Amino acid sequence: MAEVLVYVDHVDGAVRKPTLELLTLARRLGDPVAVALGAGAGATAGVLAEHGAVKVLTDEAAEYADYLVVPKVEALQAAVAAVSPVAVLVPSSAEGKEVAARLALRITSGIITDAIDVEAGESGPVATQSVFAASFTTRSIVTTGVAVITVKPNSAPVEAAPAAGTVEALTVTFSAQATGTKVTGRTPRESTGRPELTEAAIVVSGGRGVNGAENFAVIEALADSLGAAVGASRAAVDAGWYPHSNQVGQTGKSVSPQLYIASGISGAIQHRAGMQTSKTIVAINKDAEAPIFDLVDYGVVGDLFDVVPALTAEVSTRKG
Ligand code: FAD
Repeated sequence: MAEVLVYVDHVDGAVRKPTLELLTLARRLGDPVAVALGAGAGATAGVLAEHGAVKVLTDEAAEYADYLVVPKVEALQAAVAAVSPVAVLVPSSAEGKEVAARLALRITSGIITDAIDVEAGESGPVATQSVFAASFTTRSIVTTGVAVITVKPNSAPVEAAPAAGTVEALTVTFSAQATGTKVTGRTPRESTGRPELTEAAIVVSGGRGVNGAENFAVIEALADSLGAAVGASRAAVDAGWYPHSNQVGQTGKSVSPQLYIASGISGAIQHRAGMQTSKTIVAINKDAEAPIFDLVDYGVVGDLFDVVPALTAEVSTRKG
């Protein structure tokens, strides 16, 4: 059976959810072979095997942390040479997309980024993308080389599929270019305790209708009751009410959660561009004519300061 490489996103051996989603998609194409790099790579094998990895290629060299992305690209290149896969699946994070693009150049392959689905086709893997602010859905295949595909978080379910998960050491010889840019320091961002915006299963966002930084507490309370991440429209970010790192949209982050709740957001095309592939969209807006209502699954016409706290109370009651 054909093999499919899956690039593992992990922190010190803790595998992040988008990688497990990639394993679900990889199993549609062939036997998943995971590539885990850096400190703790060996510790990822158990969970990867539980989700379908027949093999886990690991390398814990210090270079992956000490330098920018090129060592990771060279490791994936070595894995492609060792395995001859039909596809390489990479999470669509900022780093994942950079790694994938550089890999595709190195191995002279086509690349498809930000896929929302991947399936087997007659001429190889077929990737689905949502383009032009989700006005169109495209299906594409890679016609040159190995299909390098980056996949958005929350595009596939996480499924248990026990497999051998045999661990093998990946041998990588780094070029001078790989160690050309050294990381001299890392400052972790202060943690809010909430999930990462682009990976969250639920996102609760606030816009200009929230009307002030202090009022975002209402949005945060609903988010916390649901275990969700907090997003914001550009209007809210430009007003200084919420950090830019939480902006959703064309010039912010692209999210694709199971549930997106937009409060006091009109639904401008640039905001839609970042959230329109969400599975279920709920909007709360006091203007029944707001364009956001054109794309929602559930809409509430009302004042967010009434509706959002009522929702939070209801969620909290049901959680007991
Ligand atoms: P508004 O459009 O002002 O809408 C506020 C909404 O809140 C209204 O519908 C109103 O009815 C409702 N409301 C008010 N009070 C209440 C209340 N008490 N209860 C319930 N509802 C209430 N925007 C983004 O979001 N992300 C981007 O990445 C982005 N990138 C852009 C890039 C470019 C190049 C450009 C030109 C624009 C970009 N924008 C982006 C801006 C975008 O065009 C809109 O201006 C912005 O999304 C509007 O934000 P908003 O919906 O919060 O505000």
